[in-house]
Amino acid sequence: MKERTEPTIAPEDIRAALCQIKDPDLGRDIVTLGFVKNLQIDGENVSFAIELTTPACPVRDQMKEDAHRAVLSLPGVTNVEVEMTSKVRGTQSEQKDELVPLVKNVIPVASGKGGVGKSTVSANLAVGLARLGARVGLMDADVYGPSIPTIMGATTPPTAENGTIVPVLRYGVKIVSMGFFAPKGEATIWRGPMLAKVIDKFLGGVEWGELDYLLVDLPPGTGDVQLSLCQKIPLTGAAVVSTPQDLAFNVAEKAIFMFTKLRTPVLGLVENMSGFECRRCGHREEIFGSGGARRFAAASEVPFLGEIPLSTDIRTTSDEGNPIVQSMPESLSARAFLRVAENLAAQVSTLTMGGVSTDRPEIAEIAQPSENEVQILWKDGHESIYTGYALRVGCRCALCVDEISGNKRLREESISKDVRPLSIDPVGRYAIRFHWSDGHSTGIYTFELLRELCPCPICADNAEARTR
Ligand code: ADP
Repeated sequence: MKERTEPTIAPEDIRAALCQIKDPDLGRDIVTLGFVKNLQIDGENVSFAIELTTPACPVRDQMKEDAHRAVLSLPGVTNVEVEMTSKVRGTQSEQKDELVPLVKNVIPVASGKGGVGKSTVSANLAVGLARLGARVGLMDADVYGPSIPTIMGATTPPTAENGTIVPVLRYGVKIVSMGFFAPKGEATIWRGPMLAKVIDKFLGGVEWGELDYLLVDLPPGTGDVQLSLCQKIPLTGAAVVSTPQDLAFNVAEKAIFMFTKLRTPVLGLVENMSGFECRRCGHREEIFGSGGARRFAAASEVPFLGEIPLSTDIRTTSDEGNPIVQSMPESLSARAFLRVAENLAAQVSTLTMGGVSTDRPEIAEIAQPSENEVQILWKDGHESIYTGYALRVGCRCALCVDEISGNKRLREESISKDVRPLSIDPVGRYAIRFHWSDGHSTGIYTFELLRELCPCPICADNAEARTR
């Protein structure tokens, strides 16, 4: 048996070092949040686990590296092992515990009207969350036009055991849909009380088992199913899907208003069919203008979860029963869905952990005054205008900065002065990610980093004072 050697370092010193690492979604350090588990010290070897609130954390690897570096820099430590784990927190209530006791979060996906891609988004988000490591269910409550079995390629109906429905498992997602039970092509006429019974059955009469997220594909608009669902169990929060045109006609607003009236938080807005992505050259055409959903979300204080392009591949893969996140995971569209899935999970974490600590700068609006310029308006009234080049060379990802020493790996002279962002996507409520014209897209720019990189004279002076 291996003998343990006397440590020269105390657990408090390690915890103190780990206090530097913040969970960016929650804005608090991982020690205060109780995320550091199983701390073991054996001589100069230290190991511990960091238990996050979701497996779908985009900065998981970065946090692991930061924690590793912080502890390795302590005197008396020569070897550090960090294990990243997760435990999704959920909403709790007696009603929910009676009907779906093992489901942590029930998340309806809604839209103001039909045809905006709500079912396509629900299916891809469900598969995306499952691929990121979460336990996921998808309830197709769109009783008037259930399309989830088709999109998910689920042809065999669920089985029943002792009067309980056993959901169909497809691409790692547990699925139940009216489409499995209603004859194909026949329109079903539902009255309010019958709808309430279906929702009851789909909640309490299904063997969902342990789930981190149960997504519910709602019928479009604001009707009886929405009402029934919101009254039956407390929902963690809703995701609202909209198209750019929809926003212009205030259709998405109605769905948001409905949830507010039903006291269900809105976890965020997804803009679908935003811009057309050409299959051949990858060029993006902003048919209905860009940034509308982001601006709308900011003005109505609803989180913006991201945008999904209008893409032929999204439609064909859905028609074939093999959603794009599953069939073409490396495509730009699949990556856009995965980012929305991460942002949705981040919103759930924030909500279930009691909100964000807000001692950090917050962005009010992002614009591109020209192709290779980015303008950020901050909530405190500050304005930053960056060149694409300055932001690109300021990237702190593991490819651009050495993770152990913190020294720059990127050679600035290798970057073209004309580099420009092709897309700008939110990461939780604390960062953005650029997809650069030189193909680079791994950097996550936290709001703090963006503020640090602001070239205005006041911020530049502050930055210089910090390095002095
Ligand atoms: P809803 O559930 O809102 O009624 P669906 O998800 O059924 O809408 O989508 C309607 C149609 O639009 C489907 O043919 C679907 O494949 C297509 N679609 C949805 N999102 C996109 C997208 N981003 N790009 C291309 N086609 C899409």
